[in-house]
Amino acid sequence: MPSVPAVGSTSPWRYHAAVAPGTDLAELARDAAGCTRCPLSEHRTQVVFGVGNPDADLMFIGEAPGRDEDLQGEPFVGRSGKLLDRLMAEELGVDRSVCYIANVVKCRPPDNRDPKPDEISSCRPYLVAQLEMIRPVVVVTLGNFATKLLLETELGITKVRGRAYPMGPYQLVPTYHPAAALRSGGVVVAEMRADLIRCKQLLGWDT
Ligand code: URA
Repeated sequence: MPSVPAVGSTSPWRYHAAVAPGTDLAELARDAAGCTRCPLSEHRTQVVFGVGNPDADLMFIGEAPGRDEDLQGEPFVGRSGKLLDRLMAEELGVDRSVCYIANVVKCRPPDNRDPKPDEISSCRPYLVAQLEMIRPVVVVTLGNFATKLLLETELGITKVRGRAYPMGPYQLVPTYHPAAALRSGGVVVAEMRADLIRCKQLLGWDT
């Protein structure tokens, strides 16, 4: 088992609601659409809040919108998204409408650079609120950004993947970012498939 710091019971990723009681996901998305909390708002075409079933048992969390997502307003619609859709269909037997898909930051960083710490913390309340409202059973973090943030670890994805982490109301299953799978191919794709099969078991979708 990889040595990963225990996630404290006070972790805001487990219990903290960042919005007023009674606010729903659609209202939150409307609020986010006009967000100017960080400088990413100056460069975006639109906010890419998240997509899918608001009652989903399974939620995927990526890093940040890319060019295609910024133009279309939906997470994971480019090449990475096509691979994610294929793996979802082949290993879980579902399409994206069954799940909820979001990113750590909701606006595209210019030139697809990594999101900066202040941008991540400005956007964090939206992700906390999405988790709180959707209440997924399983959360799949795609790649290092989402994994390090939600698992509160400095360890990279190769060290932490291969198991599920109980996070209070949900189980966190870290896996590679689909872009890494597109770059690296075979083994990484096979490990992503194994991680999705773990999700299937946790969700009871394998019976
Ligand atoms: N990469 C991400 O992390 N998120 C997207 O929505 C698209 C590509």
